[in-house]
Amino acid sequence: MVDSFEDDMRDARELTEAFWKEQFAKSGWTYRPITDFIPYTGNSGPSCAGHAAAPKNAFYCRKGHFIAYDHQWMEGLWKEMGDGSVYVIIPHELGHAVQAQLRADFRHNIQAELQADCYGGATLASLVASGALNVDEGDGRELLLSLEAAGDSTDDWLDPAAHGTAKQRQRSFALGYNEGVEAC
Ligand SMILES: [Zn+2]
Repeated sequence: MVDSFEDDMRDARELTEAFWKEQFAKSGWTYRPITDFIPYTGNSGPSCAGHAAAPKNAFYCRKGHFIAYDHQWMEGLWKEMGDGSVYVIIPHELGHAVQAQLRADFRHNIQAELQADCYGGATLASLVASGALNVDEGDGRELLLSLEAAGDSTDDWLDPAAHGTAKQRQRSFALGYNEGVEAC
């Protein structure tokens, strides 16, 4: 049976949170799951600490500890490149939810974005290794590059000024993929 977009979104969230629950438990900590996972369209997204949601984006909001995503934009990427798109973006956003739990001074900057890409790569490698996830096309290590190629320069999520260049992002993602969370 072929998964729908909604199935893949739900699985990406659940599998990634299960991964982090286990990672936290190894250190004797308790992972705090996000409170909500909110689809929106265009400009209709929830605001975060006074900032309006941007179209063509997915984001973690520390105030409220939730993730929101432009449903149409994500589904478009999913149609274009398959479930890999969801498995790059959602683990990245949950990576911010992890950072917010580990760092009192958490804020979104390029360093945090690259670490979230690294966390995303580590999550993905673990899901592939455990058999929870079959990567449909190509190598998991290449997924972030495929996403950059499938995206559009107007996509907020892929904005190099906020997230780092494609090369920096791919390097961080591959570091996590190859060496795991500790390397991030
Ligand atoms: Zn981010």
